[in-house]
Amino acid sequence: MNIPRTSFPRVVIIGGGFAGIALAKKLSKQEVQVVLMDKHNYHTFQPLLYQVSTGGLEPDSIAYPIRKILKDFPNFYFRLAHVKEIDIEKNRVITDIGKLKFDYLVIASGSETNYFGNSEIEKYSMAMKTIPQSLNLRSLILENFEEALLTSDLNERNALMNFVIVGGGPTGVELAGALAEIKKGILPKDYPDLDTRLAQIHIIQSSDCILKGMSEQASKKAEDFLEKLGVNIWKNVRVTGYDGKTVSTNTDLTFETATLVWAAGVKGATIKGLDADTFVTKGNRLLVNEFNQVKGFNHIFAIGDIASMVNHEFPEGLPMMAQPAIQQGKQLGDNLLRLIDEKPMRAFVYKDKGAMATIGRNKAVVDLKNWKFQGVFAWFVWMFVHLFFLIGFRNRMVVFVNWVYNYVRFDREARLIIRPFKKKL
Ligand SMILES: Cc1cc2nc3c(=O)[nH]c(=O)nc-3n(C[C@H](O)[C@H](O)[C@H](O)COP(=O)(O)OP(=O)(O)OC[C@H]3O[C@@H](n4cnc5c(N)ncnc54)[C@H](O)[C@@H]3O)c2cc1C
Repeated sequence: MNIPRTSFPRVVIIGGGFAGIALAKKLSKQEVQVVLMDKHNYHTFQPLLYQVSTGGLEPDSIAYPIRKILKDFPNFYFRLAHVKEIDIEKNRVITDIGKLKFDYLVIASGSETNYFGNSEIEKYSMAMKTIPQSLNLRSLILENFEEALLTSDLNERNALMNFVIVGGGPTGVELAGALAEIKKGILPKDYPDLDTRLAQIHIIQSSDCILKGMSEQASKKAEDFLEKLGVNIWKNVRVTGYDGKTVSTNTDLTFETATLVWAAGVKGATIKGLDADTFVTKGNRLLVNEFNQVKGFNHIFAIGDIASMVNHEFPEGLPMMAQPAIQQGKQLGDNLLRLIDEKPMRAFVYKDKGAMATIGRNKAVVDLKNWKFQGVFAWFVWMFVHLFFLIGFRNRMVVFVNWVYNYVRFDREARLIIRPFKKKL
C-alpha cells in the first residue's frame, strides 16, 4: 500500500463515515500515523439520501471527498480500499489493494440493509443506504412514470405509480413525505397527459406506530401529517415477500407495485475475521466495552453503527444514529492517545441530543430531552441541524440554496435519469 513505517504507532481506521471521520480528525495532529480506508473516496451524509432519491438534491451536495476533509494533516493516509478480512493473529487487514499491519485497529464500517434473510426481497426491492442506491431509486421512480405514460394496461399503470415503502422509521417517513409532495406539486405539471392522482404511496409498518424510537407525540403528529399528504399507513402488517410485482404480507393484504423500497432495518457491516459469535451480538454488531474495545481485545476497537455498547438505558446497544457515532469517534481519539501514553482510558458517556424527522414542507417533528415540538418551527430546526452537520462550506451553501429554491418554486429540479436503472427480472 506504500505506507511508510514511522516511529509513531499506526492506527488503521476502517470506514470514513461519521465515526471514522470524527476519530481521524481527533488523531491527525497527534504523534500517531493514521491510515483510513474506505471503499468509497467520499463521506456520505446519509440523513439526506432520501432527497437525492426524490430529486431534491444532487448527490455531490451530500457527499464530500475524504482526502479533502483531512488534507492538512501530516501523518494521515487515505486508501481507497475494500477491507475483506481482519487477520487477528498477525494484526493486519487484508484488502482488495493489499495487506497492512496495524498497532491499533478501529472498525467504523457502519451498517448495511437488513433483509432478515429474505433473498427474494433483497433481489427485487430498492435500498437507500448509499449514493448509488439513491440514484437507482431516483431513476426508477422517474422511469416508472415514463412507462406509465406508455402502457394502456390499467393494472400495469397503477402498479407503476404505486410506491410501497417498508418501514415507518425516519427513512420511510421522510421518503413517503417527499414522494407525496412530488405527487401533489410536480407530477401534474410534468405529466399533464397522465392521471397522476392515481399514484399511491404506502408505508407498511410491522408494529403499531411509526417513528417508533421517538415520542408518542411525534409519532402521532407524523402520522397525521402523512395522512394529510395522502400517504396510506398500514400498521401491524409485516411484508413477507415480493416477486418484483406483488408484495405479500402476513395478512390478507397484497400490493401490486413496481417499486418496493426496503427501509425496514439495518445490521452491522461486520468484516470476516472478526465475525465470530464471541464478538457479534444482536443486529450483527460488535460487542464493545465502555472504551469501545471489542470484547476480548485491547488494541481492536469498534465505533458507530457497527459497535454495540450496552448500558442500563440502552440494553440493546446505543442507537444506530449519527450522534453516537460522532461522539464515540471523538472520545476514542482521546482514549487512544491516553492508551498510548499508558494513562487510564475514560468511559464513554452518550449525550443524547434528541431525534427529529421531517415529513415535508413546514412539517417536522423534533424530540429534545425536555422539549418536544412539531410543525413549522420544528421544520426550521430540522433544516438548521442538517445544514450544520453537513461537511464542507460549499455543500452547505448548495443545499441551502436548493432548499430555498425548492421552497419558493415548489420544485425539485434534479429529476434526471442520468444512469438508467435496469430492473431485475
Ligand atoms: C437513509 C438514512 C437516513 C438516516 N437518517 C438519519 C438521521 O436523520 N439522523 C441520524 O442521526 N441518523 C440517521 N441515519 C443513520 C446514520 O446515518 C448512521 O447512524 C451513521 O451514518 C453511522 O455512522 P458510521 O460512521 O458508524 O457509519 P457510516 O456513516 O455508514 O460509515 C461507514 C463507512 O464505512 C465504509 N465501509 C463499510 N464497510 C467497509 C469495508 N469492508 N471496507 C472499506 N470501507 C467500508 C462505508 O463505505 C462507509 O463510508 C440515517 C441512515 C440512513 C441510511
